[in-house]
Amino acid sequence: SADLAMYHAKNRGRNNYQFFTAELNAKAFETLATEAALRKALEHQEFVLHYQAQVDVANSRITGAEALVRWQHPKLGLIGPDKFIPVAEERGLINRIGDWVLHAACRQAKAWEDAGHLQLPVAVNISARQLREGTLRDSVLGALAASGLDPHLLVLEITETAVMEDMDTAVAVLEDLCKLGVAIEIDDFGTGYSSLAYLKRLPIHRLKIDRSFVRDVPGTSDDEAIIRAIVSMAHSLKLDVIAEGVETADQAGFLRGLGCPDMQGFWLARPEPPVEFERLLARGDIVPTADG
Ligand code: C2E
Ligand code: MG
Ligand code: MG
Ligand code: MG
Repeated sequence: SADLAMYHAKNRGRNNYQFFTAELNAKAFETLATEAALRKALEHQEFVLHYQAQVDVANSRITGAEALVRWQHPKLGLIGPDKFIPVAEERGLINRIGDWVLHAACRQAKAWEDAGHLQLPVAVNISARQLREGTLRDSVLGALAASGLDPHLLVLEITETAVMEDMDTAVAVLEDLCKLGVAIEIDDFGTGYSSLAYLKRLPIHRLKIDRSFVRDVPGTSDDEAIIRAIVSMAHSLKLDVIAEGVETADQAGFLRGLGCPDMQGFWLARPEPPVEFERLLARGDIVPTADG
């Protein structure tokens, strides 16, 4: 994103550039340049969604799709969310981007359903700010109404940290959405807050084991123990569980052996543009890639 900031800075003219670099530290400058570019991107509809398959490896079936936003920059090409979501959050643009993502993902899921593919739940990442600032409910309702998507086909991925920031708001908003049939998933589970009490208070359907725990299994006993504990807790609490970041057959085998056949990762499928994802859907099952 330094490249990104420099590109926009230079585009605004040399004098501006010198002024900004003199007055602001590099980080603040980069944030400002990215913010301005993001506003334009919203105006010009430069965001796109890629979809990563979620797979039940017991039968190789695609059970869902996670929508992951990218910025199709006219000059710099495809930019990943890690480069701009943090700025969007910091500069108050995440609600607008998040609203666009919800609308686009619901529209896509409905289109796949209409095209005769199996009904496929689509998971959308929600930022803490969308939850905290109370825009989430209307965004979700708007996206469902505009697309005509069955609420049961929408999953919201929320992090523990987002939930903990304002527990009362989270409970109220998520219970509301849950009553409509929308499913709630805790993303990056295990990396956030240490208290698990929130699992009792929130209407949660599924835990997603963070990929940092998956990376070094089998063979790292701490990570193995953590995954075993999460899967067993999910089973006891009657929550679904899915693992992210599965890159090898060994990791998949380990997870499956513990009773966690639902997974997502490069071993199964990378995030793909809709057209490529449709090819996977048309084929019906997933053939894992060779490791490495
Ligand atoms: P996340 O929700 O935890 O998404 C998983 C990330 O891991 C994705 O990166 C995905 O491409 C990547 N991934 C999937 N399988 C593998 C694997 O096997 N190995 C490795 N190393 N990585 C894998 P991506 O698309 O760059 O997204 C990064 C993060 O950006 C997401 O993490 C999510 O927190 C955020 N994000 C993405 N889309 C949105 C969005 O629409 N709204 C918001 N608020 N955040 C989003
Ligand atoms: Mg996610
Ligand atoms: Mg995740
Ligand atoms: Mg993550």
